[in-house]
Parts: sequence; C-alpha cells; structure tokens
Amino acid sequence: MGARERPSLWRWSLVAVTWQLSLWVGWGLVLAALVLYLRADDHDYGYQLTMVAALVIFGELRPVVASDYAQDGVPMSTAFVFAALYMWGFVPAILLQAVAVLLSEMMQRKDIWKLVFNVGQYVLSVTAAWGVMWLAGVRPTLENPTSELFLRDVVWMALSWIVCHLVNLGMVAGLAGSAGQTWWESFSEDFWYYTFSTLSVLAVSPFIVAMLLVKWTLLPLLLLPLVAVYKTAAISRRRERQALHDALTDLPNRVLLQQRVTAALDEVRRDGSGLAFFLLDLDRFKEVNDTLGHPAGDALLEVVARRLIGAVRPGDTVARLGGDEFAVLLPDIEHPNDAIEVAGRIKTALAEPFRLEGVTMDVDVSIGIALCPQHGEDVEVLMRRADVAMYVAKDEQTGIEVYDAARDPNSPARLGTVTALREALDLGHLALHYQPKVALDDGTVVGVEALVRWEHPVRGLVPPDEFVPLAERTGLVHRLTAFVLREALDQVSEWWAIGVQVPVAVNVSMRDLQETDLAGLVAAELDAHGLPPSALVLEVTESVLAQDPGRAVATLRELADLGVSSSLDDFGTGYSSLLLLERLPVAEIKVDRSFVRRLDEADGDPAMVRSIVGFAHGLGLSVVAEGVESSSAWKLLREMGCDVAQGYRVARPMPTAQATQWLVERVVRGPAERTGLRVVGGDDAGPR
Ligand code: C2E
Ligand code: MG
Ligand code: MG
Repeated sequence: MGARERPSLWRWSLVAVTWQLSLWVGWGLVLAALVLYLRADDHDYGYQLTMVAALVIFGELRPVVASDYAQDGVPMSTAFVFAALYMWGFVPAILLQAVAVLLSEMMQRKDIWKLVFNVGQYVLSVTAAWGVMWLAGVRPTLENPTSELFLRDVVWMALSWIVCHLVNLGMVAGLAGSAGQTWWESFSEDFWYYTFSTLSVLAVSPFIVAMLLVKWTLLPLLLLPLVAVYKTAAISRRRERQALHDALTDLPNRVLLQQRVTAALDEVRRDGSGLAFFLLDLDRFKEVNDTLGHPAGDALLEVVARRLIGAVRPGDTVARLGGDEFAVLLPDIEHPNDAIEVAGRIKTALAEPFRLEGVTMDVDVSIGIALCPQHGEDVEVLMRRADVAMYVAKDEQTGIEVYDAARDPNSPARLGTVTALREALDLGHLALHYQPKVALDDGTVVGVEALVRWEHPVRGLVPPDEFVPLAERTGLVHRLTAFVLREALDQVSEWWAIGVQVPVAVNVSMRDLQETDLAGLVAAELDAHGLPPSALVLEVTESVLAQDPGRAVATLRELADLGVSSSLDDFGTGYSSLLLLERLPVAEIKVDRSFVRRLDEADGDPAMVRSIVGFAHGLGLSVVAEGVESSSAWKLLREMGCDVAQGYRVARPMPTAQATQWLVERVVRGPAERTGLRVVGGDDAGPR
C-alpha cells in the first residue's frame, strides 16, 4: 500500500462532521418522527399509508440495479417514500425511509456502522427535500394530507429531488475522505450516472400521489411496470456480465481486464504507487486437449481458474484471455520482488497434480511479469511486455520472468541491432565462411557448409548465434537466407568452374520453410547460376521442424521434387518422432555435436550415436557427425559406420580465399597419398 497519501487534517474533519451529522441529526430526526407518529390521532388514510409502506418494503427487496459497478443502485422504494412525503408530510416519509434503508442494509449484511451512517444520510436527504416543500408552502400532515395535485407542483417537486440528490452525494463524498479520495474526486465520480438514475426513479413519485388521490386501490398495478423494469434491468445486467466474462470459467475476459488495468493505471498515476501485470500460459495444455479431449481440457481450465483465484488477494483480478492464456492484475505492487513472490505462489498452486477423469497430470505454467511504471504506463505496452517476458520464461524454461528490455526483440536496444543488421545486409557486411564435410571411410570431400558471419565495424566478427535468432524473430531472416543462398551459389559456380565440384550446404530457418516460396527462390537461383540441383543441399534444424512440421514438410517435398536434397541439422536435440522422420523428405541427418563430443569423454557411451547411425541407415539416410574434434572420435565414428564427418579435426569454417585454397589442394591437385583424400573432379563429381 506504501506511498498512498494520508488524508489531510481538514479532510478528516470533513469525515468527522459528515459522520456526526448522520449520527445525531439523522437519527434524531428518525426519533422525532417516531414520537410524532405515535402521538398522531387516528386518521382516515390508514389503508393508503399501509399500502405505500408495503410497496416501500417490496421496492427494497427488488432494487433496480442497472449496472454492476453501481452496486447500490437506486431503490424503487424511494419513489414511494417521496409519494408519502408529498401526501402526508415529514413524519411517515422519514420513518419509511429509515425502515427501507435498515431493511436493505441488513439484507446486504453491511457493517453496522455503515448501516448507522446510511440511515442517517438518507433521512437527512429526505428532510432536505421536505425543507424545499415547506418553503414552497406545501405542508401536509398525517391529519391533514394533500388533497389535490396541480401541474405547478411539479416545479417544487423537481427542486426537492435535486436538493435531496445533492445532499446525498455530498454526504457520501464527505465520508470518502477516509478512503483516501478527495471530496471532489468522489463527488464527481459517476456523478451523471447517479444523477440520471436517481431522478428517473424520483420522477415516478407524482404518479403515485395522483393514484393515491384518485383511486388508491389501483396502486399495486404500478408494480407490474416496476417489476418489468426490474426484470429488464436484471437481463441487461446479465448481458453486461456475459459480455465481460469468460463463459467457461466465469473469470473477467479481455475487455473487462483492459478496463480494470486502465482504471488501476489511473490510480497509479494519481497516487504514485505501482502495479504488476502477469500473463500466464499453461505449458502442456495442448497435450491434455489432444489426448483426453476438449471436455477434459475445459475441466482443467476451470480448475486452473479456481486455483489462480485462490492464489491471489481479493482485490486482484484474474482474467482468462482465451485458450490456455490467463492474466493477473495486481494493483498496489511497487517492488518486482513482491510480484515474483505472488507469481511463485501461483506456480505452487498449479504445481499440485490435477486429477481429471481418473488421470493424474502435471501442468506447468510460464509467467511473464510487467510492472508499472518501470516497464510502461499504458495497457498495450504492459501487455506486450508481459508477453515478451512470458516467452522468455517459456523458452528458457525458467517459469517466471520479469520483463527485461535486453531480451525484447522490440526494445530500442534490440532494435539497434535489427537496424544495424538490416544495414549490414544492405552494405554487404555479411560474409560466408565454409566448412568441409568429408567421408569418414576415405576422406573424400563430399561437400561444404556455408556459415554466415557478420563483419561488424565495431564488434568484429559476430557469430551467427548472436544475430540469426534475432533475424528469425523479426522476419529479416528471409533477406538473410536469400543473401546466403545467392552468395553460396556464386561461390560454388566459381569452384565448379575450377574443378572443385562439391555441393554447398545452406542453413535455412523454419520461417523460410513456412512463410516464403523457398522452392521457387531456390529454383530461380540455381537457374541464374546455371547450376544443377545437386550443387545445393539445405540444412534444417531438427528442433524447429519437430515443433510444427505441416507446411515445412510440404516445402521440403517441393525441394526434393526439384532435386535439391535436405539435411536434418542438430539431430538429437529436437525429439522428433520416428514417424515424422520417416515422413520427412530428407536425405541426411547431422548428429548434433553434443553427442559427438561425448564420445571423447572418459566415460562416454557410444551407444547413442551408434543407434542413431543404425536407425538412420535403416531409413536409408546418410549420417553426418558434427563437431568431430579428435582422432579418437573420428575412429569410433568410422567403426560405427557413420558416413561423413564435419569438425575442427577436418577443418574449421574458413573465409572464402582460405576455403578455396583448402579445397583446391584436396580436390583438384590434392596429393591424395599425403592427405588420404581422394581426388574428386570431372564429370563423375558431384553430390552423393
Ligand atoms: P550448424 O548448422 O550446426 O553449424 C555448425 C556449427 O558448428 C558452426 O557454428 C561451426 O562453426 C561449428 N563447428 C563446426 N565444427 C566444430 C567442431 O569441431 N567443434 C565445435 N565446437 N564446433 C564446430 P557457427 O558457424 O557458429 O554456426 C552456428 C549455427 O548458426 C549453425 O549451426 C546454424 O544453425 C546457424 N547458421 C549459420 N549460418 C547460417 C545461415 O546462413 N543461415 C541460418 N539460418 N543459420 C545459420
Ligand atoms: Mg548447419
Ligand atoms: Mg548443426
């Protein structure tokens, strides 16, 4: 709650005065009315008054509530209280009003002091209305009630409604000082809403008076339209609720969340505190839906919703944004650690296994946190930043992340690199290095892989790991791939011209396979360079392929139809199923270098690589070992029957001139005896 300003002294005195007024004056008036009533002589209007009293009570039981946020609404009973005021004056009106408020407050189980205050408050406002009437010279009593109604009476009546309404608002606002709001803030808040609904209820009172004067027995008929109004209000309230809540979990939906965040942000701006906004995404929800079906998925979401509500405080908002995405709004959070603590509670609440249809399952959650004012001061920015944090949490499997500009692909710091990368592409600051692939059995050069480098004017040679992922996130990767493809084919045509006829392998990203006509681009480039499809191999990383094979597989097939073969890179890191592997139109897999490295470790177990080689061969695929650094690994791999090796043991990735020299030595004039490499060249050369 921290930095909230304390109400000033005069505001406290305002609260005190308002409070004393309602307590002593308000209740004093009730008491006076009671005494006067008891002392009044019997009168002729007993039945009418009883009827009106009954309708007041009925009106309290059925308050007209038009909207969710105006919880107190305007009770219909007020119209009858005013009718009693106009008919019989002060005494019955005050008593009826007191009874009505007591009844309603007790039904809502309000705090006793609130009840005391509210009775006083309404009694005072009715008294004010009576004052207007008295000044207008209209002074009916129980013994001497009003007997006629004229059109001109509407003038003072309207005036009495306005005065009553203003006194009411003024007293509520007077007490608002204790909630830290200023008197004016509270007074003006929802001013028009309350004014409109109050006046429309009070405007019914002259009709009631007219009926009392003409045919009071018809009065209950008035209930019909009133009940209809009540019903309509209830329906519209339900509709409003539906429009703002999620049907499955009954949590606030995106629209309501946005309203709440906006309101909370206003508050932060006003009192200089802070707030936290979380985005949550269930980690294995799709699995539940796929394996147990949608009803089970729905049931899971409901349980998750309940656990989320249980993990936060009453004033916080938990919302469902759709699918398995939830959001939490915590007002009054200033320190990141407080937010992390709540996120930790949420994680613990969801960590407990779920039992659904007799199956116990674990569902993990990734939470992204954005704070106001640290990370943004408007709804969209906060949501976007929480989203970025959530993806980091998911990617790095940390579970909870607070937004960090350094890891945001859209942040200005990052945009510096994106812009710089775009410039590098324009200015030709990117270069390709080439690393050979050789056959394990006889050392034949069977290809080269093109690996991109950024020749940064300040940072020097930047490795691809530092900018390719960025290019992938921003869509710049299409330009990057087109550049690498053209550059690599330029180089290969040169090599082929001097007799080094090996294919070049180009790495492509998932987005190339999904979003562009890669096959079309490849065909055009091969054509432009006058090269056969066998001059090119495309490498696709296994992990990304396993995520979403659909469209990617189709592209790979188009490429295969062209005659361009593909290779599954970093194999073993992506958990692709054997089924997927069988379906994939690839000719080669590249065993990830983490497996190859383990061959060199003292307790290294070669069984993994051996079995990969075994089943790849079973599927008719050729196997490349990546990252071969030692002679012992080389030997082991050869024994296992692995086909090709790539790694520092053979050669590091080399800039063009050096790669050309290396290739020419081994392939064209290579002293095969010395290096153990076979000369490849002439017409029989080319890819395997
Ligand atoms: P990759 O395709 O698996 O490339 C092999 C990586 O292993 C290269 O890293 C290479 O330098 C390194 N390497 C080769 N032999 C050895 C070895 O014996 N020991 C060790 N420790 N490492 C070795 P590099 O060049 O840093 O490239 C990293 C990754 O960046 C590549 O992995 C590839 O996925 C990506 N990449 C490189 N160029 C491109 C490109 O033009 N386009 C795209 N989309 N991605 C690229
Ligand atoms: Mg590669
Ligand atoms: Mg690799």
